[in-house]
Amino acid sequence: MLSEDIVKKYMQAGHIASEVRNSAKQLVKAGAQIIDICEGIERLIRAKGGNSAFPCNVCINDIAAHYTSPPKDNHVVPPDSIVKVDLGVHIDGYIADTATTICLDRRYEDLFATAQRALQAAIVEIQPGTKVSKIGSVIQKTIESNGFKPISNLSGHKMDQYIIHSGKSIPNVGQMNGTKTEEWEVYAIEPFVTMNDAAGQVKNGRDSYIYRFLRDRKPKGIEAKILLQKIRSSQRTLPFPERWLYSGTSDGQRRAFLEILASKSIMAYPVLIEASGSLVAQAEHTVLIKKDESVVITL
Ligand code: MN
Ligand code: MN
Repeated sequence: MLSEDIVKKYMQAGHIASEVRNSAKQLVKAGAQIIDICEGIERLIRAKGGNSAFPCNVCINDIAAHYTSPPKDNHVVPPDSIVKVDLGVHIDGYIADTATTICLDRRYEDLFATAQRALQAAIVEIQPGTKVSKIGSVIQKTIESNGFKPISNLSGHKMDQYIIHSGKSIPNVGQMNGTKTEEWEVYAIEPFVTMNDAAGQVKNGRDSYIYRFLRDRKPKGIEAKILLQKIRSSQRTLPFPERWLYSGTSDGQRRAFLEILASKSIMAYPVLIEASGSLVAQAEHTVLIKKDESVVITL
């Protein structure tokens, strides 16, 4: 059971997340700097009284997840692209995770509409005691009946205070899995949709721009020690980008960061790319399962 106070924090995080998500469309234009979109979203979250639970992800075309701008990123949004904006807000560690897709070419609208339909179908399904495999199968059926394919190796996830993935997953396809949802759990549900002739899977890209604390391996350098301490106190176990640690001009701090990474005190999340290079759309909401009903906190 969650206290009224915690439920209130979830609702507040969800409200901020939905408002910020709804303003993503104004930021995403062909030619816009990706770093301006990431920082614009993160600034808005802050201005509304929330904290970023993870760096704003801006994933273009066949990139499905885990791209955020590195320091001094000079990439821009290409014309006629399909752009996923995924953001997280937390209040005292209680997280709302939501995403939308902006189609800069009308040909992609059906792909995104299908992701939204699959998300809606999953939301109708989720109750206390629902098998997660049932939700995955509803998502898969909705996507396939619209003529597209789900990404089978990406999933939604249960969340806890300061923890983005806390064990249970909501698959985007049917599978043999007896896991059930329970009262007072919080889930992000996120169907990813690609073309019918695509692989329907993501693979790791070469680059990583998102990190999180794992364990204190006691880096040797004093700057590395201080930086690791700073990460632990400001982010705890939540993901962060290099941009949040220091301005792009500090070579000493950059060396300290690489030392922490080499010590495996932090882990890196590789960028995830559709394995056959196909376009990907995503829709995501966070759901709080109460005693008799499920509440979408990011509507
Ligand atoms: Mn998300
Ligand atoms: Mn998520």
